[in-house]
Parts: sequence; C-alpha cells; structure tokens
Amino acid sequence: MPGPAWALAVSDVARLLLPNACVACGRLVESDPDALLCGVCRVRLRPMRPGCPRCAQPLPPVGPCRFCARWVPELTRVRSAVWLTPEAREVAHHLKYDDYPALATLVGAIIARDVAKPESGCLIPIPLGAQRLRSRGYNQAGKIARALAGHWGLPVSETALRRARETPSQTSLTPEARLANVTGAFAAFPPPSERRNGSGATEMPAAILVDDVLTTGATLSEAAQALAGAGWGPVMAVTFARAEPFEIRAQHYEPVSTR
Ligand SMILES: [Zn+2]
Ligand SMILES: [Zn+2]
Repeated sequence: MPGPAWALAVSDVARLLLPNACVACGRLVESDPDALLCGVCRVRLRPMRPGCPRCAQPLPPVGPCRFCARWVPELTRVRSAVWLTPEAREVAHHLKYDDYPALATLVGAIIARDVAKPESGCLIPIPLGAQRLRSRGYNQAGKIARALAGHWGLPVSETALRRARETPSQTSLTPEARLANVTGAFAAFPPPSERRNGSGATEMPAAILVDDVLTTGATLSEAAQALAGAGWGPVMAVTFARAEPFEIRAQHYEPVSTR
C-alpha cells in the first residue's frame, strides 16, 4: 500500500539524489553511483599515525602522553581511524542524523582499513539514553559496530552496556566538566560466559567499545570502568574519528561531538 504522498516524494528524491551526491561536499560522484564520498573527500580523510601505544595520540616532544593520562586504567587501548577533518565531521553528522544504511557500511570499511583488528573481543557500542534513542530512532555507534563486525568477524553485544541516566549534551563543556558529566552514566551486564584457559584460571572476555567520535575519552573511560566492574576483561575501544588536538584546546565543539 503506498504511503502518504510526502513520504513517497522524500524517498524518491532520496533515491535519485543521494547516491550521486557526496555526503561531505555535495559534489556529484559520477565515477561510482553507489559511492557516498567523492574522490577528493576520500583523500581528505586523514588516517591517524601511530603515537602513544595506549591511545595512539601523537606524543609530546618531551615526557609521557597527556591525552590518556586521566583515563581509568581499565581502558587499555584506544584507536581511531581518521582525524575529525571537516570531511569526517560531515560523515559523522550524516551517520548520526540521516539513516542511510550505506553510510555505516562505508564507516565500517574505513575503520577496518585503518585500524588493526584486535585478536578477540566483543564489540560493544556506546549506548544512547532511552530518550535520545526514541527521538533519533537508532544508535549510530550500534550501526558502526555491526558494520565492523562483518570485517573483523567478531561478535556484537548491544545489551552489555546501557545508560544508567540521561546525560546532558557534552557540547561546549571543558574536559573537566565532560568527565563529571558522564560519571556514573553507564551500567553494564556481565559477559555471557567466563572461559577458562589451559591452566584453569578464569579468562575474562575482552570488550571493544565502539563509538563514532572521540573528543576527550571521558565517555569511553566511564564505559570501560562499568564493563570492568561487571567482569569484562581488558577493555579496548575503537572510534571512527578523533577530534584534532588543537580543537580540544580551543574548546571549539561542534554538535557532532556531542552525545
Ligand atoms: Zn566530496
Ligand atoms: Zn596516550
């Protein structure tokens, strides 16, 4: 049965326009009608180079990494595929607000290309609060996790972690305020089963948190603590994009980095 006229009109327009327009710059993508990013924007997605062994942030000229210094010890390893350039910001924005299935597939492929596959672990997306999930209709981190699971051959759990409370938007908060904002924000369920290794000791299943954008790591840190408290083993995390260091210093947050 046909839907209302406006719905038909929107889906027709979407079908006609979206596959040929780059989601980042709007230019026509003529070479490949299914491509969501044009060649220019693809090149402008800048993969992160290895830096700090724990968080991959470029190391300062002197002394240890300061970026991950305040994270909880339970968060052992964090990787992001690309820097949050204007092009990556557009991709993250569309992933969050427009439900194009192909966009999560693209983001999953970019992460699989730029981030080394962890040996094992369960992919656990950072959950949205119930209220935000209702208004948006889907969790973009869940979409990324499912797309990535196909590349890495790892399981996904969207129930291991939930929001214990709704957190106000992180927009324009200082790093200190972000940390306070997410304290106690998550509740975690224990892993489905604890495995025993050869010597009979219990081996905790590893968790791999998945999110779209990493700004200060306060959210990942809080989620890692909740998972570790529920019996998950080493907690790693992977995100599509990471805010560039100068942006964090300048306190210049766009809506894309909010939760
Ligand atoms: Zn483009
Ligand atoms: Zn670090």
